[in-house]
Amino acid sequence: MHDVIISGAGPSGSQCAQVLAEAGYKVALIEKDTNWRKPCGGALNPSVIEHYPQLKKLSLPKLKGVVMHSADYHSLKYQSGEMDNGTIVDRLKFDNFIREIAIDKGAELFDKNISFDFIIKNNRKVGIKTKSASKTKEFFGRIIIIADGMSSKLALKSGLRSKWKINEIALAKCSIMEGKHQLDEEHAYVFFRPYKGYGWIFPLDKRRFNIGVYTFAEDNLNYNLHKAFNRFLNDVHVKKYIPTSNYKTIWTGAYPFPTEGVLQKSLYDDNLMLIGDAGGFVSPISGEGIDAAIKSGKIAAETAIMALEKQDYSKNFLRNYKNHPEIKAISRNYKLKYSMIDFFYKNNGENLNRMLALTEKDPEFKSQVVDMFISKSIAIPDKDFFSKIENAL
Ligand SMILES: Cc1cc2nc3c(=O)[nH]c(=O)nc-3n(C[C@H](O)[C@H](O)[C@H](O)COP(=O)(O)OP(=O)(O)OC[C@H]3O[C@@H](n4cnc5c(N)ncnc54)[C@H](O)[C@@H]3O)c2cc1C
Repeated sequence: MHDVIISGAGPSGSQCAQVLAEAGYKVALIEKDTNWRKPCGGALNPSVIEHYPQLKKLSLPKLKGVVMHSADYHSLKYQSGEMDNGTIVDRLKFDNFIREIAIDKGAELFDKNISFDFIIKNNRKVGIKTKSASKTKEFFGRIIIIADGMSSKLALKSGLRSKWKINEIALAKCSIMEGKHQLDEEHAYVFFRPYKGYGWIFPLDKRRFNIGVYTFAEDNLNYNLHKAFNRFLNDVHVKKYIPTSNYKTIWTGAYPFPTEGVLQKSLYDDNLMLIGDAGGFVSPISGEGIDAAIKSGKIAAETAIMALEKQDYSKNFLRNYKNHPEIKAISRNYKLKYSMIDFFYKNNGENLNRMLALTEKDPEFKSQVVDMFISKSIAIPDKDFFSKIENAL
């Protein structure tokens, strides 16, 4: 019997396991495959590094800024001390690095185990069933945490949420490529597209970069992801940074992510919590989810610790997770970003075009854009911000 069973050892699950193990609880961390590289841009904002100072031991690229391009190729270059600690990681290495931290603290990792259902006794979810190549296993625990990403079977079986609809998600494809590039290694490159989504190039070192594209909402149906990816690779403005014609693809993958913000009504039930992508913790528009995955993992672990101390695993008690001020702040921030999508992407991204054009002429407006899209603080733009964009020619 474990105190807590966590399905999924991605950033949310590993962080959750670490906090629980540090507090002395018996944790089972169940993972489908530790050799899987999650398709991801791998951009980490500074607060992830603050959270995991151990990452400083790795020689990771230092991200000092970002270059944003509109679909009609206006651009904004931003460089600031605040981004000093941002970086780009290879997800295979990063996920294993933070898994190891959880294991060092005492969490038990069960690799090559796919969780597929709950064990139910007296109408209560008392554990989960997993299958591996050779057998099925049962894990029993006082609290179950679902951290196995947006394709989670357990999240569906829990009855807390239904299957994502195509317009509630993003479809993304990316590759790690190798060859001589013209990217400034201290910057991440983002290219808004004339459809809902964007393309990115994130330099990993002097010769390697992560490149990808995503579509979201109704544009998942209007655009073919693989064609969008190929068009992005051959776009003349993108070619400026990656001019060579024979880059070697080291790895490639495609995966969806949720785009409508935190599923506040579906985060907890009796002895159950959903964290990370499984609970919708991905920022609308930017697609950034690693930081929020880690934060939700930490707060769910702290809630579980209080529940274990009180021996109260009820839905009523676990509501504290959803009501935690940091979870509320993330949810609010995502709601705000979600509410701006239609404005920005109206008429093939026209307002994004105007916004970036304006930043080229107006430094004060530029700093508002930076606060909203890039900076750590949650800046709520005022009405003037939007009318300036709408009235720009
Ligand atoms: C293409 C793409 C690019 C992205 N780029 C960025 C970026 O640059 N920066 C950023 O911050 N965010 C990015 N994101 C979002 C980010 O990847 C996620 O928000 C983050 O990984 C969520 O962490 P998680 O732990 O909740 O889930 P995941 O990282 O998805 O981890 C889930 C874990 O559960 C395991 N698992 C799955 N099913 C089972 C099962 N049945 N049984 C056991 N284990 C299971 C998986 O193997 C995995 O290890 C991107 C997403 C995509 C798809």
